[in-house]
Amino acid sequence: LDATIIPVNLASESDHGLIILFYDITEIRRLEKVRTDFVANASHELRTPVTALKGFTETLLDGALEDKETLIHFLEIMNEESERLDLIIGDILQLSRLEQRTDRMRLETVNVKEVIESVYHILNQKAENKHIDLRLNVINDLTIWYDQDTLKQILLNLINNAILYNREYGYVEVSVVQLEYEVQICIQDNGIGIKNHEQTRIFERFYRVDKDRSRNSGGTGLGLSIVRHMVENTGGKITLESKLNKGSSFCVYLPLGKKM
Ligand code: ADP
Repeated sequence: LDATIIPVNLASESDHGLIILFYDITEIRRLEKVRTDFVANASHELRTPVTALKGFTETLLDGALEDKETLIHFLEIMNEESERLDLIIGDILQLSRLEQRTDRMRLETVNVKEVIESVYHILNQKAENKHIDLRLNVINDLTIWYDQDTLKQILLNLINNAILYNREYGYVEVSVVQLEYEVQICIQDNGIGIKNHEQTRIFERFYRVDKDRSRNSGGTGLGLSIVRHMVENTGGKITLESKLNKGSSFCVYLPLGKKM
C-alpha cells in the first residue's frame, strides 16, 4: 500500500487537518511483474536456439567444415533452430498485436463445418501417426459472422494440442452446438489431462506443464495465450474442464454475429 499525507487548513485558524490517501497498488505491481516475467521468459526462450546456432557455427569454423557429412548434419540442425527462432518471434509478435488489438478483423460469413474440415485435413495425418481417432460431430450449414483465419487458427491450436497431449490410441472429438446467440465448439480428448491448479496457468504466456514435451513437439508455450486473446477480442469466451490422466475438454463460445 502507498500513502500520501496532505495537511489542510480548515476554516478556523487553530484547526488543522490531514488528508491521508491510501493507494492500492497491488494491481499495478502485478502488471509490472507480468511484464518483467514476460521479458525474462521471452529472452530465455529465444536464447535457447541462438545458443545452439552459435555452438554449431563455432564448431564448423573450428574445423568441422572439412567433413562433408558432419557439415550437412550441422546445417540441418541449424536450419531447424532458425525455424524455431522464427516460430517464437512470430508468436510473440502475434500476441503483441492481439494485445494491442491492432489487427483488423475481416468479418465475413463463415461456414463453421468447412473451417473445421479444413483443419481436420491438416491434422488428421498427425493423429493417425499416433493412432488417434479424430472425430467430427458438426452441424451442416451453420454460419457465423466472423473472421475465417481467426477461427481456423483457434481450431488448429486446440486440436493440435488435443493430439499432442494425448496417448496412442486415444481420441479427439470436435463437436458443435448452436445456442441462442452463440456457437459452442468443444474439443475433447482422453489424453494426459491437466491438474486443477494448472488449469488457469496454461493460458499464461510461456506456461507449460512439461517444457520438454512441448518444446520437442515444436510448441512455443504461447498457443493458448494467443487462442484466449483471439476468442476474447472477438466477444467470445473459452472454458476448460480437465481431469489428470483422464482428458480435457476446451470449449469456445463465439457470437453468431449479425442475423443471416
Ligand atoms: P504449447 O503447446 O506450445 O506448449 P500452449 O499454450 O498451446 O503451448 O499450451 C500450454 C500448455 O498447456 C502445454 O504445454 C500443455 O502442458 C498444456 N496443454 C494444452 N492443451 C492440452 C491438452 N489438450 N491436454 C493436456 N495438456 C494440455
